[in-house]
Amino acid sequence: MTRDIEVGDELPDWVGAKEFYQKYDPKEVIGRGVSSVVRRCVHKQTGQELAVKIIEITAEKMTEQQLEEVKSSTLKEIQVLNMVKGHPSIITLVDSYESTTFIFLVFDLMRRGELFDYLTEKVTLGEKETRSIMRALLEAVQYLHSLSIVHRDLKPENILLDDQGHIKLSDFGFSVQLEPGEKLRELCGTPGYLAPEILKCSMDETHEGYGREVDLWACGVILFTLLAGSPPFWHRKQLLMLRMIMEGRYQFSSPEWDDRSSTVKDLICGLLELEPAKRLTAEQALAHPFFCQYQREKVRLFSPRKTFRVMIWTVLGCIRIQCRYHRARPLTRELLARDPYSLRGVRKLIDGCAFRIYGHWVKKGEQQNRAALFQNTTKVFLLGLEEFDN
Ligand code: ADP
Ligand code: MG
Repeated sequence: MTRDIEVGDELPDWVGAKEFYQKYDPKEVIGRGVSSVVRRCVHKQTGQELAVKIIEITAEKMTEQQLEEVKSSTLKEIQVLNMVKGHPSIITLVDSYESTTFIFLVFDLMRRGELFDYLTEKVTLGEKETRSIMRALLEAVQYLHSLSIVHRDLKPENILLDDQGHIKLSDFGFSVQLEPGEKLRELCGTPGYLAPEILKCSMDETHEGYGREVDLWACGVILFTLLAGSPPFWHRKQLLMLRMIMEGRYQFSSPEWDDRSSTVKDLICGLLELEPAKRLTAEQALAHPFFCQYQREKVRLFSPRKTFRVMIWTVLGCIRIQCRYHRARPLTRELLARDPYSLRGVRKLIDGCAFRIYGHWVKKGEQQNRAALFQNTTKVFLLGLEEFDN
């Protein structure tokens, strides 16, 4: 039985927990959050496998204020989850139960886990795979924004993969539904994915606030990260990283970018646009040539103009391949010893081995550091803002 809980409702006693255990069998832990544990669980009657997010709300481990915050944010999360249920790229809340000490949220089971883990295993993704992930993500964001919902915590850890490798957006813990014309001021999210206006707004009382555009900035960070294997904004000193974000300072400099199309770089620039009003919206991003190039080809019938264009591109492509072939450095022992990282195949091999040995990425260059991906776990944080002014 699913209950509709309203924010401000008194939580019922332990009955909710008993109801949950009567209906479901909790199994092993498959994920952890700040105040939650996610377990696989089995619906006793049907044998269906699901995931349950168990949120602890006991006064023992928290102050009274923290307790209230967790309760009210979880109830808001449930409200949003009920609103967005049914979208193919958004996680479905199947059931919810509350007791005095725990809240149980039952979801469909995303067996292949986080996009984050998939990326760390793969090192980087190709444009084709990135296109299908980003299309699904932007469609989910477009749907949320059509309901005036801002997610505020888009990152690869909150994008989950099912058996077939399709993505679903999850973790609506920071989501809010905006009133018409409403602007937000709260500093929340995950450092590397924060939009510049969130940071600016927290430092300047006269700032007008921020809106749904922050989700598109985060999509830009995700797109960059999937293709490069490391985030666009990173510095081992977090304050300097935040400064880079505020100045929109990032580069397509790592070796991976040599092989990437100018189309996808243009899309990244449109998403990582400092000015929120000029940043691409979800619709505009989905209409970008990066997503359209293959779809258009499918629907059009024979067109002499297009055929001519394809012929020209093919000839140019052949010339390019031939030039590359002639320019290609022969793989010698000397080159392998001097600069193995400059060779694409060897680079992938080194990255893969390093990950298996160290359990985390190692430094790749001056700007890029894959360890940065693992340092974005803080969900809510407050900045020493005065340090920025210096
Ligand atoms: P938090 O709000 O505390 O970050 P999340 O909802 O993001 O909690 O869940 C924490 C982690 O649990 C996720 O990053 C993911 O690894 C795992 N997880 C959450 N929901 C599911 C699910 N439906 N299927 C599989 N794993 C999940
Ligand atoms: Mg999360």
